[in-house]
Amino acid sequence: PPAIMWFRNDLRLADNPALHAAAASARPLICVYVHEDGPGAPRPPGGAARWWLHGALAGLDRALANRGGALHLLRGPAEEAIAALATAVGAAAVYRCRRYDEPGRAIDARLDALLEARGVASLDFSGTLLHEPWAVENRSGQPFRVFTPFWRASRQRGAPGQPLRPPERLSFFALPEETRRRFVGLGDLGLEPAKPDWAGGLRTAWRRDEDGAAACLDTFLDHGLEGYAGGRDHMASAAISRLSPYLRFGQVSVRQVWHAVTAARLSERSRASEGDVEKFLAELGWREFAYHLLHQAPDLARRNLQPRFDAMRWRSDERALRAWQRGETGYPLVDAGMRQLWATGWMHNRVRMVTASFLAKHLLLDWREGEAWFWDTLVDADVASNPVNWQWVAGSGADAAPYFRVLNPILQGEKFDAGGDYVRRWVPELACLPAAVIHRPWTAGKEQLAAAGVALGETYPLPIVAHEFARERALAAWRDMRA
Ligand code: FAD
Repeated sequence: PPAIMWFRNDLRLADNPALHAAAASARPLICVYVHEDGPGAPRPPGGAARWWLHGALAGLDRALANRGGALHLLRGPAEEAIAALATAVGAAAVYRCRRYDEPGRAIDARLDALLEARGVASLDFSGTLLHEPWAVENRSGQPFRVFTPFWRASRQRGAPGQPLRPPERLSFFALPEETRRRFVGLGDLGLEPAKPDWAGGLRTAWRRDEDGAAACLDTFLDHGLEGYAGGRDHMASAAISRLSPYLRFGQVSVRQVWHAVTAARLSERSRASEGDVEKFLAELGWREFAYHLLHQAPDLARRNLQPRFDAMRWRSDERALRAWQRGETGYPLVDAGMRQLWATGWMHNRVRMVTASFLAKHLLLDWREGEAWFWDTLVDADVASNPVNWQWVAGSGADAAPYFRVLNPILQGEKFDAGGDYVRRWVPELACLPAAVIHRPWTAGKEQLAAAGVALGETYPLPIVAHEFARERALAAWRDMRA
């Protein structure tokens, strides 16, 4: 009897413990992905993530085809789809890597019951995180709410095991024709935009398969890791990995990244310092921490982790929300970030912080509005990292930046995009302004503006809200909430 390998957030052949075990079982495999929809399904991916998923599935199908197999697609409630397939082919077992969102876990539990009743084994493996979210705990056996002790405890568990090589041999089950009829084509899933096709910029920015992930990691090891600790905040610097969408879809595993980075330093492939490596590993740690929090609070995309934020009087302001989404706030760094996001499906971390802070503090809009926009537009939109980071910025999170710390988008730009290159790239209408005023164009002299072809209020908006006013308004709202 065959075994079913159910791919989910682990769309890779290398270091995939579930695939590895399925291959080692010597059973012929049926490789499937289920596009889950309907009530009770996991949070539906947004537009940009759907676009990415299309490429990732196509890439995995190609990789399997090179070994004589294929990735078969199903749609619908996963427990029904997988259980029915298992019965139809008389499968002995279903292999999969674990997932940690509540709907996903509930589906997996229901599937296990269905499979057990039919005598089919279900085997799940850890393939997404360095450590299971429940495995890291404090001395009294409790989960952590604060990053630093969490990460210390996580590190004390030691380095992750060495990554597994892609299975040397995969054998595939010869599917009967009537079983094949269950499967749908990739195009049937409608993951890529048709009309309008807004994905042109994304296509130029990314290569969505496992080889793309490996190439991205290589580039980082050769050019980005050295200087990461100091460079990661600077928008024009190469000292970041851009691995987030590949990690999100599991096209590279976190332990592959971990070992590649530590090995690059030891082998002197990279002249990165220990500080560079530690800082980078700690960012992987934030990803772990987000899942640790999600495990404690499955509804954290909807609920303030600090309940006192339930009393926050967020404003409702469609016009301001739209200006933020379109990158038309009149603050060049905020606008550059939002346009980079729209064009490429990705935004630099420091700018994510500035734009998120601008929404929750300058505009005093509910962080959930911003989270939903990022969810729809980020190729790396992640069930844990997106809401956790939003709550961190908004101040409502477990271990959050205090609400009263309002990031100043002008000073942030002058500090981390000192030459103005990032703004020039994404807000071309300001490209000819000198660095001294590019982050505050309203302070430029008339002649300076004219020489740069900028007419404020016409070619580029005036600030939709004044920084000092907005700051005071946010602080007042925060004081009211506390009262
Ligand atoms: P690098 O600096 O090279 O870091 C390496 C990896 O570490 C990243 O690929 C990512 O997997 C992880 N990482 C880094 N920083 C964080 C962090 N703060 N939280 C969790 N993981 C981190 N990241 C997502 O992957 N998905 C999201 O949906 C997401 N939403 C965010 C929303 C907001 C408001 C903010 C402030 C941050 C968000 N982040 C999210 C975290 C971070 O901005 C991105 O992971 C990072 O910018 C990705 O770029 P990189 O791969 O070059 O990161």
